[in-house]
Amino acid sequence: MIKNKGYWVYGSALVLALLGTFKYTMKSKQQKLTGQVEFSLLQSSNTLDYNKKPAGIVNNGNTCFLNSVSQPNFIEYLFELVQHINGQTTLAQQICLELAKIMKYLNSDLEVINASDLIDLLSEDADYSFFYEQQDSHELFNMLMKHIEEANNQINSFDLAMLRSKQMKSKNPFLHHTKVQIRCNTCNYSFNSLKVESNYAFHFNLNHARTVQEAIDYIQKPETITEYICLYCSLQFLRKKYTLAEQQKIIDSYLSANNYDEDSFTILKKVIEQLNTIQGNQVQLDPQKACLKRTVTRQTYIAKYPKTFCFFVNRLIVHPYHGLIKLDDPVYLDSNFPVADKEFTLSALVCHLGNSKSGHYVAFKRTFAQDLESSMSLNKTYKKCEWYAISDVKVAATKQPQQGEAYLIFYDTY
Ligand SMILES: [Zn+2]
Repeated sequence: MIKNKGYWVYGSALVLALLGTFKYTMKSKQQKLTGQVEFSLLQSSNTLDYNKKPAGIVNNGNTCFLNSVSQPNFIEYLFELVQHINGQTTLAQQICLELAKIMKYLNSDLEVINASDLIDLLSEDADYSFFYEQQDSHELFNMLMKHIEEANNQINSFDLAMLRSKQMKSKNPFLHHTKVQIRCNTCNYSFNSLKVESNYAFHFNLNHARTVQEAIDYIQKPETITEYICLYCSLQFLRKKYTLAEQQKIIDSYLSANNYDEDSFTILKKVIEQLNTIQGNQVQLDPQKACLKRTVTRQTYIAKYPKTFCFFVNRLIVHPYHGLIKLDDPVYLDSNFPVADKEFTLSALVCHLGNSKSGHYVAFKRTFAQDLESSMSLNKTYKKCEWYAISDVKVAATKQPQQGEAYLIFYDTY
């Protein structure tokens, strides 16, 4: 959470008044196009040219990152999503429509756009006041993802009339799944947690990583946990205590299952209850005593990779003497990095310039040109082109993005 007080630095009433006029001019410029754009919006994203100089965005509290996500992967998904929206719309769906409109504007010939309509819609969210205080681009990104997910679920929900759920072709490119695997160091048995976590941004931990590969390795780094109840060691122990044939059958059925969504103690309690009901049972065991605690290796792994990686570099830490401070440690970003048989290309960055109390966000965005050979196929591919630096309404071509102070990092694969 890094505050952006850039907007307030302008300070004086005069400047604010000027900003007001400016905002109005931009808005009316935008409104002239609205009818036309909104209509064509529902057609498709095919007409979009991702190789145009991006439009600047009037500072509305960290909306600058919108430029960084206006890349083919995300836009193609968003446009498919909004095509399914019709009739009475929910807040989440209105947010998606507004966002699609902004994505269209950012890849049009407009020089400057105003995202205040999007902010107005987001302000109806109960979490908004928190965001407003923080003025943080990562928080805003998360908030948008929450609404997109909601709209996606509403659209893909089970259709009673059709007796099936509607399915969109594309998935949110930021979406990825992580799973947890636990291996007991005593019995060597490993089992997966059934719980699949769905996430949109990866944490880039500056204390352990300087490159994206190191950040991914750190997320998937195995950790040792002591005093962990090993279900398999405990079940083997029960097998020695409860020896009736019917009891052994029950225990074996638990031993052969590999996925559990309850904690080991709850499962063991259930097993023992079941074992105690068997006729002829001689044993009465306290479930607590059946829990064998072991040293285990716990590993989170990425079960499904995203099409667009978004890394969130946590630069704010609480210092014992100085309170909240910003970490200025640089990150080193390769233009490409391979993972899971795919090549990912650095496509955008949001950098925070300043300290923990005030500062300003600058976005860097690379444009993409459609690979002509793929233009007729369903799976379009894109080639990387120019870099642009976007500081609010100012947009300028640049040779290299200023990557050191990256706060949000985006990599795409096509
Ligand atoms: Zn074990």
